[in-house]
Amino acid sequence: MGIRRVVAALALAATAPLALAAGYAGPLFDAHLHYNEEAWNGTSGPHPPADVLARMQRNGVKAIVSNSRPNDGTHLLASLPQTRAAGVTVVPFVRLYRNRADYDNWFRDDSIYEMVRAELARGTDSGPFRGLGEFHLYDSTNANGAVAKKLMALAEEKNLAVLAHVDDAAIDLLMANTPSKGQKVRLIWAHTGIGGAPVSRVDQLFAKYPLLMGELSYRPGLTCEGGKLYPEWRDLLLKYPARFMIGSDTWVNQRWQYYDELMKGYRVWLGELPPEAARKIAWDNGAALFGVK
Ligand SMILES: [Zn+2]
Repeated sequence: MGIRRVVAALALAATAPLALAAGYAGPLFDAHLHYNEEAWNGTSGPHPPADVLARMQRNGVKAIVSNSRPNDGTHLLASLPQTRAAGVTVVPFVRLYRNRADYDNWFRDDSIYEMVRAELARGTDSGPFRGLGEFHLYDSTNANGAVAKKLMALAEEKNLAVLAHVDDAAIDLLMANTPSKGQKVRLIWAHTGIGGAPVSRVDQLFAKYPLLMGELSYRPGLTCEGGKLYPEWRDLLLKYPARFMIGSDTWVNQRWQYYDELMKGYRVWLGELPPEAARKIAWDNGAALFGVK
């Protein structure tokens, strides 16, 4: 055995126990990813496509819900042969924001509705858009804004998923604005409530809306010391293993810098769950929702 192979064997021996300790080892579906202007500014940037694709690849991320402000970032990732070469499937969502000013006005701005219709008609090089969002409602009553109502009805009519950063009250309001009253629309609750709605309230909403999904980035109370699950969250995940997904939420460049740590963190607590439940939350639920093989 040459010196290189000895070194390689030693490195393998040293990392193998760590790999086991790192928990879940299967594929990941990143259900909340942004590829915004400041990550990639049109020509160069701190995180050009080769950089973000390498981050996904080395973390076993095989599919992403991609959305970006403006939508150019998603179009770019969806168009590149390098994305397919990295083994990453892009599930494109239409972001409602062209710029930061749109965050606080989208729910009543008809030009956003027109922009969404135009993007849906255009599609991407990886196929049609599959969802709308992420959008934010800092005041839940704006779920009843004229454009918010139209977009929720459009999502149900066109079978588009919706990625919504809202509180629990807004979930009820958004659902009420669909023809089925929330029974048929695929709403993904970003962060499963970043304000920390109690587990009992999340449970109640999941029971009320059978297609409601929860994405788990930034979720307060999910994990405790050592990145382990809090018992009440472990119980909820095991009650609804088909209803949760993980996500990076790369809303600022710092999140790209910590992408490895974020994904490793998920693998730690996923590893605490029975393998079948871990695999569902890590991969199967997103893959089933969007037909990713
Ligand atoms: Zn986000």
